[in-house]
Amino acid sequence: MGNDHPHRNYEVLDTFERFSQVDDVFSRSRWDPAVHSDASERFYSTYRRPLTDWRAAPGFTQHDYALRNASWHVTDIFAEMFEHADRRDGFLDPLSMLRDGASERIGFESPEAAAADVKHVAQVVGADLVGIAPYDERWVYTERFSVQDGGAKPNDLPDGLTSVIVIGQSMDHDLTRTAPSALAGTATGLGYSLDSVVLLTIAQYLRNLGYEAVPSMNDTALAIPYALEAGLGEYARNGLLITPEFGPRLRLGKIFTDLPLARDHPTSFGVERFCEGCRRCTEACPAKAIPDGAPSDERYNRSNLVGVRKWSVDGEKCFNYWAKVNTDCSVCIRVCPYNRDYRDPANREWLELASADPEAALARADDEGHGERLLPRSWWP
Ligand code: SF4
Ligand code: SF4
Repeated sequence: MGNDHPHRNYEVLDTFERFSQVDDVFSRSRWDPAVHSDASERFYSTYRRPLTDWRAAPGFTQHDYALRNASWHVTDIFAEMFEHADRRDGFLDPLSMLRDGASERIGFESPEAAAADVKHVAQVVGADLVGIAPYDERWVYTERFSVQDGGAKPNDLPDGLTSVIVIGQSMDHDLTRTAPSALAGTATGLGYSLDSVVLLTIAQYLRNLGYEAVPSMNDTALAIPYALEAGLGEYARNGLLITPEFGPRLRLGKIFTDLPLARDHPTSFGVERFCEGCRRCTEACPAKAIPDGAPSDERYNRSNLVGVRKWSVDGEKCFNYWAKVNTDCSVCIRVCPYNRDYRDPANREWLELASADPEAALARADDEGHGERLLPRSWWP
C-alpha cells in the first residue's frame, strides 16, 4: 500500500501482526468461554427457529423473527451446504458454488477498460457500490476457523492474485431505524443474501472470461481495509465504513482476482473530523463497546487487531449484548448522523454541511431528532 493518500483514518504500526479468523469474535463464540455461553447458543438457534416463548416486545415477536430469518435464508443455504465438509461458505470459507471457467482468456485494451467493464457488470447484476483495491496480504487472515475442530485450518488462496473488487450492498433505512430489534436484523440478512448472489455472479463472469476469481464475504480477509483502499468510504468511530451514498448502512463483499484492473484510491469527505466531535454512537451503544477517545492501538481483547492505531470496538462486549437480546444490534448505525436516505436532497445538503461545518451539522441532526428509534410496530403495515 502506498502513502500517496493520507486520509485513511487508521495507521499501521511497526508492531502490526496479521489477524487469524480463530480470534474473530464469532469464531470465539464457538470455542472461547469469554464469549461462548448458553445465551450465545440460543442467539444462533433463533436464526433457525423463532423464539416464540421469549418476549412479546414489539420487534422481537414471532412475526419479526419470521421476516428476519427469511432474509438470511439465501445466504444460509450457501453457508450450510458444505458444513459436512467443514466449510461455511461466505462466513468461514469463500463462496464455492462456481463452475470451471474458460481455458482461454479474453483480453482488455487496458486495466482501465477492464475496470470499467467489471464495474458496469457489477452494477447491472445488483451491486450498490463497487471499487477496486490492490491485493494486500496484510489483510488476509493467517488461517481460517474450522467449526469441526474448533481451531485453525489453512486459508488457501490461488497464486497470482493482484486486485480485489469490493462490493457494497446497502441496508434498508427504515428497518435499521427500528434497532435494536430482530426486525432490524432483516436489513443485515438481506444485505448478505443479496451479496451472495452478486458476488457469485461477478466471480463466475470473471471465470468465464478466463481469469481467477474468489468470491468472499466475511471469510478469508478483513473487508474494511480493502473497501477504504477501493475508495468506497471513510473509517469511523463506530468501527464501520461510512459512505456518501448510504452512510454506515452497508454490507461488504470482495472478489480476489488476477484480471489486471485499474485501482481506485482512498477518499475523504470529512468523516474523521466529524467523528472527532461526535459521540452519538459511543453514548447510544447499549454495551458501552465504542470508545470515546482518540484512535489508539489498545487491544480490549484478542479480537482486536495488533499494531493498528484506529477507533476500535470491543467485540466481546458487542457480541455478548447481541447474545443477550437474541439478535444482531444496529444501534450504532441507527444513531449515526450519517445514517440518512441520501435520495432526499435535504440529506445531501446535510452531507455537504457535515464536511464544511461539523458542529453546525451535528446541531442540525439534533434539531431534527435524528437517530430516534422507529417503533417496530409502526414499520409493519
Ligand atoms: S452493534 Fe450495538 S452493541 Fe455492538 S457496538 Fe454497535 S451499538 Fe454497540
Ligand atoms: S455516530 Fe458520530 S462518532 Fe459515531 S460513527 Fe457516526 S459520526 Fe462518527
